[in-house]
Amino acid sequence: MSKSNIEWTEVTWNPTTGCDKITAGCKFCYAEVLTKRLKAMGQPKYQNGFNITLHEAELKRPYGWRKPCMVFVNSMSDLFHKEVPLEFIQRVFETMNETPLITYQVLTKRAERLAELSQFLNWTDNIWMGVSVEDEKVMDRIGYLKLTQAKIKFLSLEPLIGPLPNLNLDGIEWVICGGESGPGRRPIDPQWAREIRDSCFTSNVPFFMKQMDKKIPIPDDLMIREFPQTNNSNNQLNNQKITTMKTTTEIQTKQAILAKLSPFKKEIGQALINGENPESLAIRLAEKRVMPVPTAQAYITMVRKLFDKVETLPAKMETIVTQKNNVVAKNVRTKISDVKDVAVDVEEGEITTIKFEITINLKKSK
Ligand code: SF4
Repeated sequence: MSKSNIEWTEVTWNPTTGCDKITAGCKFCYAEVLTKRLKAMGQPKYQNGFNITLHEAELKRPYGWRKPCMVFVNSMSDLFHKEVPLEFIQRVFETMNETPLITYQVLTKRAERLAELSQFLNWTDNIWMGVSVEDEKVMDRIGYLKLTQAKIKFLSLEPLIGPLPNLNLDGIEWVICGGESGPGRRPIDPQWAREIRDSCFTSNVPFFMKQMDKKIPIPDDLMIREFPQTNNSNNQLNNQKITTMKTTTEIQTKQAILAKLSPFKKEIGQALINGENPESLAIRLAEKRVMPVPTAQAYITMVRKLFDKVETLPAKMETIVTQKNNVVAKNVRTKISDVKDVAVDVEEGEITTIKFEITINLKKSK
């Protein structure tokens, strides 16, 4: 396991190394460049250069990982390369099947072979399967991905070197988009990325903008970094963070509602947030305010009705992610560790929008 600087994962795991170029997206393959460097540095794993090499010992490594995390499988290779035998791919899957705390992100350009072999693989919920698509010429990879039994299917549209009109996102759970970086890079047109972003919004598919070219910043309207929300009960990382967001947002949202209430209703709301029983609260308030108990109960019902609307959070939730006071992402749905500064828009007694700020660690430590 090696910590990764790739924005959409946490660590990398390479049970195979080596590959060869198949399409335009491979032109400046970073795995090839890095392999040469690691070989020159004397790294034993890379002494076979960029030839496909199977690493038996790597298959055991994930059993030692105790904490949930997201792992990019084969950042230095392609698991579905024709020289990787089915039997070895099955053993990689076996390791992934038996370590359900880990979320594995497998990415390939060999989508046709992926579709062929899919039926012989065990697709547990913790395996996310993606295909790389760099331009319109290789859009057929998406169709092959859809033929697989993978529970979470995603697209890595990077390096995006051409527009992708008519992107059909049926059955796709996540889209990553990014431009090429490094010397000789082929520039991304922000309009291509915007079209993809809009397709994602229309299809309700999480969108993750990785980079433009690493030199120019991502435009504000494209700075969206979402992750898929999975049903994988073992995916503790995701579940834990979503729960944190929901619970915290509910409490913060109730606090935001309180700010708009009269002092008496505010007192009731605060007591309810603190967990006071409504029956005893009615008696306590009736004594304190010298009013009939049913009147106090009516006020409590009014505030509870407002709070009930928070339990089912409204359709539109805007998030603004800041890091050192800079806005770095908007509309992020997961990977949230803290929620603060909630604002609520109310129209005709209905909560229409909740806006809140979250703190998030986007930059991985090296
Ligand atoms: S498929 Fe990936 S790893 Fe293989 S050459 Fe192309 S870019 Fe490099």
